[in-house]
Amino acid sequence: MLLEVKNIRVHYDKVEAVKGISLSADKGMISTLIGANGAGKSTTLRAISGLKKITSGEIWFDGQRIDGVAPHKIVGLGVAHVPEGRRLFGLMTVRHNLVAGAYLQNDKKLVEKTMDEVFEHFPVLKERQKQLAKTLSGGEQQMLAMGRALMARPKVILMDEPSLGLAPFMVIEIAKIIQQFKEIGFSVVLIEQNAVLALRLADSGYVLETGSIALEGPSKDLMKNEHVKKAYLGG
Ligand code: ATP
Repeated sequence: MLLEVKNIRVHYDKVEAVKGISLSADKGMISTLIGANGAGKSTTLRAISGLKKITSGEIWFDGQRIDGVAPHKIVGLGVAHVPEGRRLFGLMTVRHNLVAGAYLQNDKKLVEKTMDEVFEHFPVLKERQKQLAKTLSGGEQQMLAMGRALMARPKVILMDEPSLGLAPFMVIEIAKIIQQFKEIGFSVVLIEQNAVLALRLADSGYVLETGSIALEGPSKDLMKNEHVKKAYLGG
């Protein structure tokens, strides 16, 4: 397994937001975390990328224990995080946002090569590379956030709510790109409010309820599960 989260607990002060979650993700696979607001999905991703300290448990990536490792070192090992809300540098150009994603990379040629690869995935970013990020549409901003994550040449991409606030045609575009990531061999861990989309895209899924995993399994099985259908797939 590329990524293994073992029985992690995470607190905000005294409140336990994640209550012993275990999950795994492998190369060329999409895993999804679905669940209501506040179930602990974002906190789990923030714990993996080192942005939120865990209280107990272990996180392993590519044979190395990473809980307690500094976030920039975790990026350097190959874990990229595309946060909810995109968090772009709005007053910087598209190109500069992409370069910022490669801040750990000293090899300028490799940065240029990676940028060309990003432009292959997202031709619109090439066209708009001189524009300020804040002038992009919501969908384009999501693409820039994904492109910026790719600039770090990751092995696993953690994606928090990529479809949030996007028009339906753009949700389809983003879904196609996530599918491409899988085909290239990235591992993707996807959080989605849109559970139908998430389970269609993913190989396996975890249903989080109030900080714990209520159900897990192959996505095709979860889609047939009565509880999942009723609670998350609109019946
Ligand atoms: P959402 O879709 O709303 O982001 P989520 O499943 O990602 O939901 P989390 O954001 O991980 O859930 O939140 C889990 C719990 O932790 C919630 O009870 C939330 O109120 C709490 N929480 C999240 N962030 C903080 C914070 N910075 N300080 C205090 N409590 C927090």
